[in-house]
Amino acid sequence: MQFELNERAIDATLGTLRKAATSLKAHDYQWRIAQLDALFQLTEDHEKAICEALKADLNKSYTEAFVTEVGYLQSEIRHAKKHLKAWMKPRKVGTPLMAFPGKSFHYPEPLGVIFIMGAWNFPFQLTIAPLVAAIAAGNCALLKPSELTPKTSALIAELIPQYMDKDAIAVVEGGKEVSTYLLAQRFDHIFYTGGETVGKIVMQAASQYLTPVTLELGGKSPCIVDKHCDLTVTANRIVWGKWTNAGQICIAPDYVYVHESMKDAFLAALRKAITSQFGKQPQNSQDYGRIVNSNHLARLSNYLEGVESIEIGGEIDAESLYFAPTVVLNPPLTSPLMQQEIFGPILPVLTYDSHDQVIDMIGSREKPLALYLFSSDEDIQQRYLAQTSSGNMCINDTLIFMTNADLAFGGVGNSGMGRYHGKSGFDLLSNLRAVMKRPFILDVFIRYAPYNSLKTTLLKAFQ
Ligand code: NAD
Repeated sequence: MQFELNERAIDATLGTLRKAATSLKAHDYQWRIAQLDALFQLTEDHEKAICEALKADLNKSYTEAFVTEVGYLQSEIRHAKKHLKAWMKPRKVGTPLMAFPGKSFHYPEPLGVIFIMGAWNFPFQLTIAPLVAAIAAGNCALLKPSELTPKTSALIAELIPQYMDKDAIAVVEGGKEVSTYLLAQRFDHIFYTGGETVGKIVMQAASQYLTPVTLELGGKSPCIVDKHCDLTVTANRIVWGKWTNAGQICIAPDYVYVHESMKDAFLAALRKAITSQFGKQPQNSQDYGRIVNSNHLARLSNYLEGVESIEIGGEIDAESLYFAPTVVLNPPLTSPLMQQEIFGPILPVLTYDSHDQVIDMIGSREKPLALYLFSSDEDIQQRYLAQTSSGNMCINDTLIFMTNADLAFGGVGNSGMGRYHGKSGFDLLSNLRAVMKRPFILDVFIRYAPYNSLKTTLLKAFQ
């Protein structure tokens, strides 16, 4: 699909948003609640159309589309509404003796206009969830959904103006050309979800105006299966985490490390779990997604070129963009499969002898977005917590941690910067203005020049 770059229309839209941001209309608690209500209403009124767009773009089943996109957003909105008053309150902090009597606060205030660039794998959720945070924090926002999922992008562009305050929230559709033009404009914050390459472009563009950025990126998220685990439950949870949305999830387990002694039992459990969730022929399953486009299908097919150890799956149907749930055993660590983020339905399974080996390997790579550990052994859990680093960690499960709005979500190092969801999103898109308030009484003059040894002694005592 071709999008046109209409610079005049974009400039006019941005002008409107800036005017709304400076009019302070979004600062008001009632405005924020009204916008959150409208957004909730949009998801309720158009649940079917949203799920249909997701079906057309990614072959998501209705249930998956509802749970991971629409329903997910509804709980995020409910959570924001429930806590908004408390989040908006000035946060009292201590005041040192030197400034006595006095009071100190962190006073959350909106940043202004937020530019939100959505990604294609959860094209509705990943464009709208940052908007929930932006509205809660009292900002205006410009949304640019991913061009790779055109049905969802068009629906967002159609619905947002029907429900939201048009002066404060707008949508611009488009691809690289439009993104490049938008990135050259001045915003108060850029919220980008996507890959590392564009993440660097975003950060570079943002530096022109010293605009703060949030980068929600990806990477290779490891999943370790220790000897001390329930293999059936482990396999079920890994299959769910890996093959929901045909593996096109930033936090999907990218590869699994399983103890050598459990390799065969683990592969058998995986096979069983794949069959029980998607049937013997996943191609016929209503619940198994498709690859977003032929470029990504070709990228994924290349990973399998020359690979001999395909244990499960490997079937591809280019016409219907089908790529079977695929498991590859022990690919070389230097192969593209183990060097690049897979972001698709291929799961390398590697074997290990000792946790030292796994921890060293994880530590030698870029910090991942998520790390999964399946082990009931508390010492092993503690070791991975202490000796590895990742944006998020989930012990004995996979994607489920995303349902907790109280958990801040984001990457570290190469997997991104900035955290959102719930209060973290509110804080991220607020300026936590530091305010100290003092009365006129008790003007302790020792701080004023001219200084002498007595003043110096007293000042030292007050530190
Ligand atoms: P993408 O290529 O669709 O890019 C996302 C946005 O960048 C789009 O709006 C697009 O218009 C814009 N864009 C693309 N090329 C550009 C350019 N040259 N200049 C300016 N803008 C440009 O996204 P992607 O990289 O294919 O997404 C997949 C990646 O996203 C994976 O690495 C995945 O892990 C990551 N991801 C992360 C999260 C998260 O929450 N951390 C969520 C989803 C996806």
